[in-house]
Amino acid sequence: MHSEYQHLIDLSDYPVAWWKKVVELGEEIKNDPARFAHECSGKVMATLFYEPSTRTQMSFQTAMIRLGGQIIGFDNPANSSVAKGETIKDTTKIVSNYADVLVIRHPVAGAAKAASLTADCSVINAGDGGHLHPTQTLTDLLTLKIEKKTLSGLTVGMCGDLINGRTVHSLCKALSMFPDNKFVFISTPELRMPAYIKDIIKANGSSYEEVDTLEEAIGKLDVLYMTRIQQERFASEEDYLAQKNTYVLDKKKMQLAKQDMIVMHPLPRVDEITVEVDDDPRAKYFTQAKYGVFVRMALILTILKENKPSETLKGKVYSGVCCDNPRCITNHEHYLPKSFRHSGDHTLLECEYCDERKLI
Ligand code: ASP
Repeated sequence: MHSEYQHLIDLSDYPVAWWKKVVELGEEIKNDPARFAHECSGKVMATLFYEPSTRTQMSFQTAMIRLGGQIIGFDNPANSSVAKGETIKDTTKIVSNYADVLVIRHPVAGAAKAASLTADCSVINAGDGGHLHPTQTLTDLLTLKIEKKTLSGLTVGMCGDLINGRTVHSLCKALSMFPDNKFVFISTPELRMPAYIKDIIKANGSSYEEVDTLEEAIGKLDVLYMTRIQQERFASEEDYLAQKNTYVLDKKKMQLAKQDMIVMHPLPRVDEITVEVDDDPRAKYFTQAKYGVFVRMALILTILKENKPSETLKGKVYSGVCCDNPRCITNHEHYLPKSFRHSGDHTLLECEYCDERKLI
């Protein structure tokens, strides 16, 4: 399936050279924002936020305003026709008549891909459930480029809710495309990185190890990426409470880290980093959030300028086959074509919306 418009649903839909170009433009904008102040004048961006957000929504809005464009949208679907039962298809069809670019966040995996199938303008994925968050990854790449001066040869620790954390899924997929990066996954057995991400890392020639404690990993890291335990993605309060507070980065643990290690976090923080760590010069999470505006300016500019048609679905539609993931958009919006890729030895199908695998 094709769309006339250029979208960003998953960074893997683009070559690495394209991400680098966006990140480099983000750095250029950071160094001289005034030069870009009118680049999007006359353009409108719509933010459709079906899930809470501070940074992503506001940084997108700030980005468009700082490019000279205008913004519309909702951040509480209860105040829109979504509350009356409107589908993503209809909402995006309508809003894409009003805007040049649509930024969507949704609690269900594959929702941004679904929006891109019918929107009559560009769509940017601002987080789809526990699946992907490509613009956080662009933010993270810009942070690494500026703060570590490289995107390669890094030992990156990721700690916390690795099963539900869309930011770490997108970041692993991206960083494993650069040479000599190694990953250390720090989580409880229940919250381990999903198998499909680990397979992508291996296929890209990177390596990973899995450990249970921060103490055993922190000394060898160049980057420590902390994440929040994602309460909203747990089946019950009890399951969440069993994981909460397992990992807390404090001053004492920071003493075990290298002098040039940096701490990143997509935010919001709950209690996984104590406030005393904020004063450590290695804590870069607030700076990271600031870089998000510049890289989103670069992204909006690139997508609107290039405006190349996209291939939205590349797999095969299997009628009668359903995705096994209850949190996949195809199980919520039933009109969507159920499209799958063949994976591995051809006995596996991978859902094109949420990447869940199923045996055939
Ligand atoms: N802000 C990030 C996200 O939207 C991380 C988080 O919510 O914990 O995925």
